[in-house]
Amino acid sequence: MLKAGIQTTIFIFALLFILSGSAAFAGEPRTVEVMNNVYTIVDGDGVDSNTTFITTKEGVIVIDTRPTPAEARKVLAEIRKRTDLPIVYTINTHYHGGHTFGNQVFKDSKTIIAHKNVRNMLIDFGQDNLSSLKTLKIPGMDEVEITLPNVVFEKRMKIWLGEYRLELLYDGRGHTNGDTIIYIDHLRTVIAGDLISNGEIPYMGDAYLDEWIETLNLLEQLKNETVIPGHGPIGGRPTIIAMKHYLLSLKGLVLKQLDNSKSLKATQEAVAPVLREKYKSWKKLERIEGNIERAWLEYSAKEGT
Ligand SMILES: [Zn+2]
Repeated sequence: MLKAGIQTTIFIFALLFILSGSAAFAGEPRTVEVMNNVYTIVDGDGVDSNTTFITTKEGVIVIDTRPTPAEARKVLAEIRKRTDLPIVYTINTHYHGGHTFGNQVFKDSKTIIAHKNVRNMLIDFGQDNLSSLKTLKIPGMDEVEITLPNVVFEKRMKIWLGEYRLELLYDGRGHTNGDTIIYIDHLRTVIAGDLISNGEIPYMGDAYLDEWIETLNLLEQLKNETVIPGHGPIGGRPTIIAMKHYLLSLKGLVLKQLDNSKSLKATQEAVAPVLREKYKSWKKLERIEGNIERAWLEYSAKEGT
C-alpha cells in the first residue's frame, strides 16, 4: 500500500505539474501539416501536448487526445475539415492526462490502443488524479470521464490502415513506465510522445533516467528523418540527439556530486546553474531542480544496492 501511495502521489504531482506548467501556452490550437495526410496539432487552451492525426483512404488514426474533451473536440473539428471517414484507431503514447483525458471524444473509434501499463496506471490512479486536477481550474476538466485503452500490447504491435503501416514499439521505461514509440518506416517518421520534448526541459516526475537514455538509443537507430515530439515543434534527428544530450548531462553532473557524497540540496545547488546556463534557450527551466532530484534519487538508490 505504501508503494501504491507513493506512486499515487507521484502520479498526482505529475499531472498537476504537467497541466499547470502548460497553462502558459493557453491559446487556440494550431494544425501543422507535417507531410501529406499527416497533421500535428500544437498549442491549445491550457496545454502544449501535441496530438497527431493521419488521414488514410480507409479512415483516420489519432495519436494522443489532449487534456480535456473540449480540446479533443477541436482536434475532431480539424479532422472533419479534411475527411468524413471514420476514426478507426486512437493511440495513447503514455498515460499522462495531457495525452489521454480527451479519449472519450474518440470513443466512436471503438479501438483505443496503448501499452498495457498505460491502462493499468489509468485504472489505479486515474480517478484520484482527475479529482485533483479539477481543483486547478483548467477549462473543461469537469467533463473528463477516464476512458481506458481497450487494446493493449507488451512489446510490439503493427497496424495497417489504408496505405499506412504503423509499428508500435515499447522498449522499456523512460519518460514513464509505458511509453510507446510509433514508427512509420515508409515515411521515415517517428511519433515519439514525451520521450522527446523539443526545445523544452522535459517533465521527469515519474521518469527513469537510465532507461530513458537506452530508449532514445533505439529511437536513434530507427530510420527516421521526421520526429514528432510530445511537446514542442516538429523536428528531425537532432531533436533526439539534443534530448539524449540533456539526459546525459543531467546524469553526468549528478553522478559527479554523488561520487563526492553530496546531499540532494548541495547537488541541486551545484548542478542547476550549469544546466540553466547550458539550456537557457529551452522552455520550462523551472523543471531543472525537479529533474536533478529525480536523477539524484535514482542513482542514490542504485549506489545503495
Ligand atoms: Zn508526459
